[in-house]
Parts: sequence; structure tokens; C-alpha cells
Amino acid sequence: MSLMPFDDRDGSIWMDGKLVPWRDAKLHVLTHGLHYASGVFEGERVYGKEIFKLTEHTERLHQSAELLGFKIPFTVAEIDAACDQVVAANNIVDGYVRPIAWRGSEMMGVSAQQNTIHLAIAAWEWPAYFSPEARMRGLKMRISDWARPDPRTAPTRSKAAGLYMICTMSKHKAEAEGYHDALMLDWRGYVAEATGANIFFLMEDGKLHTPDPDCFLDGITRRTVIDLARRNGYEIVQRHIKPEEMVQATEAFLTGTAVEVTPIASIGEYQFTPGKVCETLMKAYDAEVRRGSDKAALITGSAA
Ligand code: PMP
Repeated sequence: MSLMPFDDRDGSIWMDGKLVPWRDAKLHVLTHGLHYASGVFEGERVYGKEIFKLTEHTERLHQSAELLGFKIPFTVAEIDAACDQVVAANNIVDGYVRPIAWRGSEMMGVSAQQNTIHLAIAAWEWPAYFSPEARMRGLKMRISDWARPDPRTAPTRSKAAGLYMICTMSKHKAEAEGYHDALMLDWRGYVAEATGANIFFLMEDGKLHTPDPDCFLDGITRRTVIDLARRNGYEIVQRHIKPEEMVQATEAFLTGTAVEVTPIASIGEYQFTPGKVCETLMKAYDAEVRRGSDKAALITGSAA
């Protein structure tokens, strides 16, 4: 596989208040964020030049930092403007935006009281690779050996870099065994989420059941899909779900900024048949994310 490394590309990255050439967006090896995982980030999608739910993402970035005990030295409005600036500067039409904030290098130890807080924002083109037909075949998943931690063990509501250690390990093991992704249970043994996405099941009662996000990220896509499902007449049940209850589910799907709405074909021994609910919500989500950019196209008079 030929990869285009992320540190060797053309374009601009916003760093601590200004755009810098892509290859110059560097930091020192003695950075607290690297050694002690004192970093928080976001993942945002650009549809037709517009960032979907930008302010919700920026507010979550601020909250993630506060949960780790630091304050990002830019307001939500300033970060929103910087994200838009990065998208425009790199001519992104359909892409991804990655803001990240971290503790710098003034102190190098567990304590980092004096460290400057940095913020960088990168964006790159990332169109949808899979057709809806291909996605309807569904993901093959295994159940991870790692569990989402107890909120007393980690700041589970923060989109903190450190929480992704077990996600990468779970995803690597799944891929090594021929699966697309892993389902993580939580510290009590309930169904939690995938390695970078939330999960929903269509149960025998005809309702959509999704785990209570009490020890993992309450995704922005998750909340969007709950709203869309209700508008399409589906009842939502948020509760603790035991893994063995998956035997009753007829459809299942993941939600997330990157995966959008993606059907699941199997999780370990449990099989699902992507059908009407997956299809309805995939279409509804697609229409929702394109709404803003269609409006922009109308205003400017340009074709979408
Ligand atoms: N859980 C995890 C672990 C994630 O990384 C993500 C992606 N940010 C999600 C859930 C879904 O969140 P969102 O819908 O806000 O992208």
C-alpha cells in the first residue's frame, strides 16, 4: 500500500494563531502531550466546503480540555473561525478537520502546571470512498479484549488522546484477524461502542436501542441520528445493553463523524441483516449533512 505520509504534504496548518506551511507544523520531542497524553482533539467532516456541526465540535474540544484540567487559550468563536480558515486555505470541498490541543514543553514530568497550551488545526480532502450499496454489506466486527473504563478510572467524557490507546490496540487486533472493527464492552460488561464510533441496534420490539453514554463519548453523530430516527418515526431506547441481547437484534449500525451511518453484518457470533432502518438513516444522515452546503450553494448561485 502506498501511503502519503501526513507530515509530508502541501498546504497550510493553523498553529497557535496563524497558518504555517504544512511541513513546518512541528513540535519538540520533549512535549508533555506526547509523553503524558495531555492532549484532546476533534474530528470534523467537511461537506461541500462547510464543516458539519462545527460549533458543537469546538464546544466539545473546550470541554475535553477542561476535563483534563486545562483551558484552551482561544474562544469557541476564534476556533470556529480558524477551522473555516484552514478549510478555505486548503481548498477542501469534502474533507476532514482535525483540531488538537496539548500541553507544551516548559515542564517535563507528571506535573505540568506551567506548560503553555497549544492548539493546531489541520484539514485534508476526504471524499466518501464507499458507495451506499457497498456499505449496506455491513461491517464484520469482533468483541474487543479491552473494556471502556470506569469514569473513576479515566475522564471518559473527554475526547482525550490517552483514551485511544485501547482503541488502537482493539482495532489492530480486529484487523489482524480479518475484521473491520471491534466492539468494546464497558467496565461492567455492557455493550459500549466501537473503537471510533457509537452503536445502535434495531431490536425485536421494533425500537432502536443504543447504550447509555455514561462512560464513553456521546457522539455528535449519535445525537444527530437519534433526532433523525425520531423524525422518521422510530422510538429510541437508551439503556444498558448486555452483549447476549444482541441475539435479538435484526439490524445494527455504527454512527460517527468518520463512519457516518455504517451498517454492521456481524459482531462475533451475532449476525445482523442491514435493511430498511439502516438504509433510511443512511439517507436521512446524508441529506442532513448536505443541507448547509446546499443552502450555501443556493445563496452563491453555484451548482452543488
Ligand atoms: N466514540 C469514539 C471513541 C470516537 O472516537 C468517536 C468519534 N469522534 C465517536 C464515538 C463518535 O463521535 P462523533 O459522532 O462525535 O464523531
